[in-house]
Amino acid sequence: MKKCRVFSGMRATGLLHLGHLAGALTNWVKLQEDHDCYYSIVDWHALMSNYADSAETGKFCKDVLLDWLSVGLDPEKSCIFIQSHVPQHAELFLALSMIAPLGWLYRNPTYKEQIENLQNKDLSTFAFLGYPVLMAADILLYRAEKVPVGEDQSAHMELSREIVRRFNHFFGGGKEILPEPQTLLTPTPKVPGTDGRKMSKSYGNSLYISESPESMWNKLRVMITDPAREKRTDKGDPDKCPVWDIHKVFNKDMGQRAEIDKGCRTAGIGCVDCKKMLNAHIASMMEPIHERRARYEKDPNTLDDILANGAKRAERTATETMSDIYPAMGLISRADRVV
Ligand code: SF4
Repeated sequence: MKKCRVFSGMRATGLLHLGHLAGALTNWVKLQEDHDCYYSIVDWHALMSNYADSAETGKFCKDVLLDWLSVGLDPEKSCIFIQSHVPQHAELFLALSMIAPLGWLYRNPTYKEQIENLQNKDLSTFAFLGYPVLMAADILLYRAEKVPVGEDQSAHMELSREIVRRFNHFFGGGKEILPEPQTLLTPTPKVPGTDGRKMSKSYGNSLYISESPESMWNKLRVMITDPAREKRTDKGDPDKCPVWDIHKVFNKDMGQRAEIDKGCRTAGIGCVDCKKMLNAHIASMMEPIHERRARYEKDPNTLDDILANGAKRAERTATETMSDIYPAMGLISRADRVV
């Protein structure tokens, strides 16, 4: 039976953290069991906001790849590749940009938000405005039926669907050249960083997937807690504590969680005890992940092979799609285009 096709990507911005693990990767690993998954390290997308500081983009791609493989993405099950290795992403981006109205792009709420939030970067570029058009191209190139994304990406997904409808309207002649992708909304559990804000590399508050057990504990040890618990004897409220938010995601021992909840409210346990318990859960979850990472790290050739095979497989599918798009748009498709 034909498996449902899934596409998703992550920007190449360096090491991934526990927020990525809980918010996306755990779901991706499950999806690869019964879906036809295409997972792309989207380096063009990374350049759209980091073009002024691009020297490490290649290294960041490798960081992401190692993190993906270590958490269990399997190149035998999923097509894993770097976006720029499949030139059809740029080609379809150009084709879709013919019909993407500027008004839609300027109205995109994520665009406005990013321009306001990232004031240290000059994002007034053609490419950054066109970010959702490239995202649409990424998805449509593989005719993906489902796209697992968090709530923050749903506006982009809606824009992708509108672009497909407009493309089919202009070039389909009543036929559907490209299918409308569906959003597979992934619940994104709250994983705060060590300072209580959203976990993000740019805040310097991240707990990384590749973090050594010692480094993980050193960060957790000083992580902020409920500010009411200044002294060991002060009673606290777990609902005001970012450490508790992380317990709720990674501590599956409900009995222990109930004890912590009570102990915190009655000052029966101290924050260090509570953090030690969390650290133990994270450490046991990370053990197989770090073992897998160490195996891949020893063999850089395997990493290159995975990327080369992924790109080849992705390019075959991408070529088939482009072979339909050229004639639909009134262009002559290259006769020797290899499928
Ligand atoms: S005991 Fe745990 S949940 Fe309560 S404030 Fe301390 S770290 Fe947070």
